[in-house]
Amino acid sequence: MSEVRVRIAPSPSGNLHIGTARTALFNYLFAKKNNGKFVLRIEDTDAERTSQEYIKNIFDSLKALGLNWDEGPDIGGPYGPYTQSERFDIYPKYVQELLDKGFAYECFCTPEELEAEKEEAQKNKKPYVYSKKCENLTEEEKAKLRAEGRKPAIRFNISKAQKAFHDSSILEFDDLVKGKLHVDTDLLGDFVIMKSNGAPTYNYAVVIDDMLMKISHVIRGEDHISNTFKQILIFEALGAEVPRFGHLGMILAPDRSKLSKRHGATAVSEFVEKGYLTEALINFVALLGWSPSDGQEIKPVEEIAADFRINEVSSSNSIFEYDKLNWMNSHYIKMLSIPELKEKLKPYLTKYDLTELTDAQYTRMVEITYEPLTLLSDITDAVPYFFGEDVEIDERAKETLETETAQEVLKTFMDQAVDWDWTEENLHEKLEAFRGYYKEKGIKPKVTMWAIRAAVTGRLCGADMTAILAIIGKDKTFHRVKAAMKQTLQS
Ligand code: GLU
Repeated sequence: MSEVRVRIAPSPSGNLHIGTARTALFNYLFAKKNNGKFVLRIEDTDAERTSQEYIKNIFDSLKALGLNWDEGPDIGGPYGPYTQSERFDIYPKYVQELLDKGFAYECFCTPEELEAEKEEAQKNKKPYVYSKKCENLTEEEKAKLRAEGRKPAIRFNISKAQKAFHDSSILEFDDLVKGKLHVDTDLLGDFVIMKSNGAPTYNYAVVIDDMLMKISHVIRGEDHISNTFKQILIFEALGAEVPRFGHLGMILAPDRSKLSKRHGATAVSEFVEKGYLTEALINFVALLGWSPSDGQEIKPVEEIAADFRINEVSSSNSIFEYDKLNWMNSHYIKMLSIPELKEKLKPYLTKYDLTELTDAQYTRMVEITYEPLTLLSDITDAVPYFFGEDVEIDERAKETLETETAQEVLKTFMDQAVDWDWTEENLHEKLEAFRGYYKEKGIKPKVTMWAIRAAVTGRLCGADMTAILAIIGKDKTFHRVKAAMKQTLQS
C-alpha cells in the first residue's frame, strides 16, 4: 500500500468521548505527517444504540477540535458510503466468499445451546470457546435444521484460516506502538461474522470496510487488540493486504480506574460546555501517550503535527489529570485576543443583559477580568457587579462595610467624587490622591479601597477597581455606595 490512509470509526452510541478524540487526533497527525488521508466512518451497525443526535455530536466535536476529515459520510469520497448502515448490501458478498473458500460456516446453534456450552466451560473453569459443533454439518443436516425454522448465523473458522496462512496456532503481528504481539488462536473461538438476521458483526464489517476503503494503518485503543487478531485472519482469508496496526494505551482517571462520568466530563461537548477551549483540549489529549521532543508541553496542534511520530507514542496507559487540563486551559485563555475572548465568553454571560454595556465597556470588562479564568465559564461568577442597579453584598464585604473606617471612607468618597470627571484616566489619578489622603491618616490604601470595592461590587476581591468604576459609571457607583451605607447602618 503506497498511500497512507487512516480512519476514525466511532460508534454513535454516545457523544464523542475524549478518548476517541485522542485516537482521532493520533490518526489525523499520522495522516498529516505522511501526506495521507484521514477518513471518518460511522459504525452504526448497532441500530438500537445509534442516534442521529450522537452522529451530529461526533461531527461537531471533531470539527470543533479541528480534526477535519478528507473523506466521510457528509463529504463523501471515492470509497463511500462512509456510514456502515448504508453499506449493508456490500457485506453479504464477502461472507459468501468466505463460505466458498471454506473459511466460514453456517451455525444453527440456538442461544440456549450456546448458553449451555458457556455454562459447561464455566463449570470446568475453562475459558469459553465455541465448540465448532456446526463446522462439519452435512447438507442434509443443514436442510433438516432449516426445516425446523432455524436460521443460521455465519461463523468464521479461525483454525482453518490460521492453518492456511501460518505454521502454528500462534498468530503474531508487529504493532506500531507496542511492538510484537501474539496470541494462541486456539483460544479465540470461531466468532460470528453475520448474525442470523443478516446483520454483520463489528469484527467482520470493520474488515470489509477497512479493506474496501484501502485503510493502510489502523490506530486505535488497546481494548481492540483481541479483535485485531480476528480481523487479521479475515483479511488473510479474503486475500486482502493486512493493514499495519497500532494500539494506544488506555486513558485512566486519576484513581486509575476507567475514565467515567463520575470523574467529571468525558465527552468533548461536555468539556466545551464547561468552558474548556478546544485548543487546550487537543493539546492536552496529545500529551496522553505522546511527549514533545523539546519537553515544551504547551503546543498548538500544527507544531504537534510537525513533531509527532507514532513509534514514539507510549505503549502504557495515561492518566487523565483534570488539574493539568485546567492549567492548560487557563494558559490558552490568556493566549486569546480580546476580540476572540469577547465572542467566546458570550455564551457564559447569558444571565446578564449585555446591552447594559456599550461595546467599549464590554471590551474593557473583558480586559480586566479574563486573566484569572481557568474555565471560560468562570466568567459568569466573576462579573455580576457590572450589571443591574444593585449588588448582593457577601459576608466578608458586609463585615468590612460595618467598620467605622469604611463608613468614613465612603462618606468622604461621596463628597469628593461628586465633582470628579468620570473617565478611567481621571479616576485613576483621583483615587490615587484619595488613598494618599487616608494613608496620611494612617489607613492603609488597600483598606481604603476595600470599602469602595465592598460597596460597589459586594465583594472584597475582583478586577481593577478604577476600571470597574469607569465601566459602571458615576450614577450606579453612587447608588450602590449609598445603598451599602444605608444597609450596613441599619444592620
Ligand atoms: N467502532 C469502534 C469503536 O467505536 C471502532 C473500532 C475500530 O477503530 O476499529 O470502538
